[in-house]
Amino acid sequence: MLADYILRSRAIFDALTEKPFDGYVAIKGNRIIDVGSGSLMEQWKGPQTKVLDYGKKLIMPGICESHAHNFFGVLELNSVNVEKAKSEEEAAKMVYDYNREKSGGWIFGFGWNQHYWERKELPTRKSLDSYFPDTPVLIFDGELHSVWVNSKALELCNITAETPDPPGGKITRDQDNQPTGHLLEPAAMKLALDYAFKNGLENEKEAFREYFNQTAALGITAISDMQIFDIVKHEIYLELEKENDLKCRVHLVASAKDDISSLNELRDTCSSDKVLFSGVKEFIDGTAMAYTGLLIEPYCDVPGYRGHPLLDVDQFREKAIELDRNGFRIRLHACGDGAVRLSLDILEEARRKNGPRDSRHSIEHIENIHPDDLPRFKENEVIASVQPEHLGGESYETHPFHRILGEDRINLIWPFRSLFNHGAKLAFGSDHPVVGLNPMDGIYRAVTRLMDDKTPEGGWLPDEKMTLEESLKAYTIDSAYQMFREKDFGSLEAGKLADITVLDRNIFETDFEEILETKPAMTMMDGKIVFEA
Ligand SMILES: [Zn+2]
Repeated sequence: MLADYILRSRAIFDALTEKPFDGYVAIKGNRIIDVGSGSLMEQWKGPQTKVLDYGKKLIMPGICESHAHNFFGVLELNSVNVEKAKSEEEAAKMVYDYNREKSGGWIFGFGWNQHYWERKELPTRKSLDSYFPDTPVLIFDGELHSVWVNSKALELCNITAETPDPPGGKITRDQDNQPTGHLLEPAAMKLALDYAFKNGLENEKEAFREYFNQTAALGITAISDMQIFDIVKHEIYLELEKENDLKCRVHLVASAKDDISSLNELRDTCSSDKVLFSGVKEFIDGTAMAYTGLLIEPYCDVPGYRGHPLLDVDQFREKAIELDRNGFRIRLHACGDGAVRLSLDILEEARRKNGPRDSRHSIEHIENIHPDDLPRFKENEVIASVQPEHLGGESYETHPFHRILGEDRINLIWPFRSLFNHGAKLAFGSDHPVVGLNPMDGIYRAVTRLMDDKTPEGGWLPDEKMTLEESLKAYTIDSAYQMFREKDFGSLEAGKLADITVLDRNIFETDFEEILETKPAMTMMDGKIVFEA
């Protein structure tokens, strides 16, 4: 047998050994047929074989992004981001400037965070109304846990003083009980989103095609699409797959609210190598930044208030046990330490009732954790699904968590190393579009724990840093494990699918700061080159 491709480099990181080695990867069809060193590559070389010599650029397994929201990622690519705004007024003006030419349809945007504004107050419809009296506008906050809408949007969605708060959500109101234009948490956001996305996006399929061009350009060859707001786009993925133009393997995570029969249907429909059903997701809490995170002790700046679960706990416990019994993997969003504990309680009970199995349940985000709960991940074989880029932010000094959570509690903030040392399997992802999709940003945060202004010196909780090797594994083989795909991809080994990323340098030899400038030189998925710089 001869290879179609031989990729050659002095730096091959196979995600099995600790350090890169000098060698090659031979590929035939969509499989890796050999990984080795030195002159052994000659045996695979024939007249048709393409030998690509990458010098000392790093060849590594294709990156597996374990937590992204594809539909919202697509939307973000095509709308304004107001993250840099310093005030509500500036954010509204940015929305206006970006959409000046637009006629008809909804206007979307992303990225506001009142904690970084001069006045730390929630935005209202009024600032948007002055620019957009007749066009509906909907702007997601930076954490995707609330939306800021204008009066036209409220009117179209029929959200009025009389509309009750849906369970788990809140319509922010003024003194006269009128909605102010802020809808908090998925249940309330859905009141507007269901209407806004009734007809999908303009040129939806092409927009997704462009999205997957981006994932390929970032070296991502597999992704977990964390469905939210009941928006599942598997038809588009299946169409792209049929056209032989899906550049990334998609693992669909549906809503745990769906009934078992429709989940079974989705599981049957999405069962290919490239479009695969991958379990369900539910929100246990919101986020501490939005004061919807569930904490064990009260918030530092809201006396006596701990937040509350976003669902009926008893009801959900029963549902989780049923889902587990039916073989569904469950991924639970839990930011606050109280939500992490509650999630562990629920998953533990499901395991006790149904018996242990290879369930690969996971807890998502884990902003902070009570030390007592650290060993419970390993005990219950629960994956810690974390997104190091959440550590990002302007500056350590001004980080809102000092005020919101207080110094004691932030001693276990984003506790990657503590979880790892307690035997938890870590899977890295981005949570795009909450933050950017670029895995290099997350890897940089995991190894340095520095904020944007390079503070604090030595990193935020330096003991929680991960090594480069561990970070790359968390973004490849361990994320593949989370996708139930570690036998298919995630490492460079003979017999695995040829999903491979080549970086434009060897980050094991450069300064960590250079990770931020590192880009893929080539991405291969299923034995095909899907990106070349
Ligand atoms: Zn998310």
